[in-house]
Amino acid sequence: MKYSIHNEDKVKEILKENGFPTFRYAQIENAVYKNFVTDFQEIQTIPKKMRDLLDENFTFNTFEVDTEKTSENGQTTKMLFKTSKWEFIEAVIMRHKTGRNTLCVSCQVGCPMACTFCATGKLGLLRNLETSEIIEQVYYAAELLNKEGQFLRNVVYMGMGEPFLNYENLKTSINFITHQKKIAIANRRVTVSTCGIVPGIEKFTKDFPQTSLAISLHAPNDEVRGSIMPVDHTWPLAKLMKSLDDYVDATNKRIFYEYIMINGVNDNIKLADELGRLLKGKLAHVNFIPYNAWEGTDSDGYQTTPRFIIEKFQKTLEKYGVVSTIRHTMWDDIDAACGQLANKKEDDK
Ligand code: SF4
Repeated sequence: MKYSIHNEDKVKEILKENGFPTFRYAQIENAVYKNFVTDFQEIQTIPKKMRDLLDENFTFNTFEVDTEKTSENGQTTKMLFKTSKWEFIEAVIMRHKTGRNTLCVSCQVGCPMACTFCATGKLGLLRNLETSEIIEQVYYAAELLNKEGQFLRNVVYMGMGEPFLNYENLKTSINFITHQKKIAIANRRVTVSTCGIVPGIEKFTKDFPQTSLAISLHAPNDEVRGSIMPVDHTWPLAKLMKSLDDYVDATNKRIFYEYIMINGVNDNIKLADELGRLLKGKLAHVNFIPYNAWEGTDSDGYQTTPRFIIEKFQKTLEKYGVVSTIRHTMWDDIDAACGQLANKKEDDK
């Protein structure tokens, strides 16, 4: 079995075992992360013996690319990776004309949180991803964009899984991708999205005051939230909002609140007022996400909220001084909502 080239400790260990000085790692690092070399034999700054050693022991891809689909407008590319154990995970590149190219990464295979509207939640948790597997997704996207003459600017941990349930690997991967000698994504351009794991928010506040935080809120009260997000039974809104206030006090950073709009479930206009009252005066930005219907599970029946109601929600929030955006569904044609492709693959299996 070959190790991932992104497993820095292992690379250094094998170099040392074979009598190469540690400064050699810096040459590999420069070739891989700055020049996007993806063939060890092309690293001309290191001796042939070392290139062969890397070939024998390391790989750029522990995953296989099972499917890669780009939307018709060319803005979105979704990758479905297959792990060596035939598990499927997803990552999505979203290209923006302004150069704000963003990658959405997964941090677990499946997810145990069982949000009722989520394709990944239907899979349950299969396992946590290793740090190098998270980095591999980022590297793959950075290299692909580099070939297009572009660069990866933002990384959002919003793919499959709950990041705070894989905290140590999340932490190491953020430190890695933001490192100047690695992929050098600016800390503030990394966003971690949680469904509301309060102890995770508390740790994150201490560890990553520069990094952005997004909350899958999806309802402004425990009754509705608890009916679609079981996490609310463990950490109800009062506890969640307290931890978020502490985050803002410590970091002075705006929090992104995600609100998926599901027809007849969480889109009663009274909830817009409740949401306004909940977030009034806070450093908050709400993203309304039209529900992306997906096939083949018992969530059949959920439909997206009509656009005019989403706009009414937005208008209502304005009265409370809360800023919001309605997301584009630019990826409908490629099943790019979290877990859709992986879910289909698991069904096939
Ligand atoms: S929405 Fe996020 S936390 Fe909820 S089940 Fe899906 S992946 Fe897990």
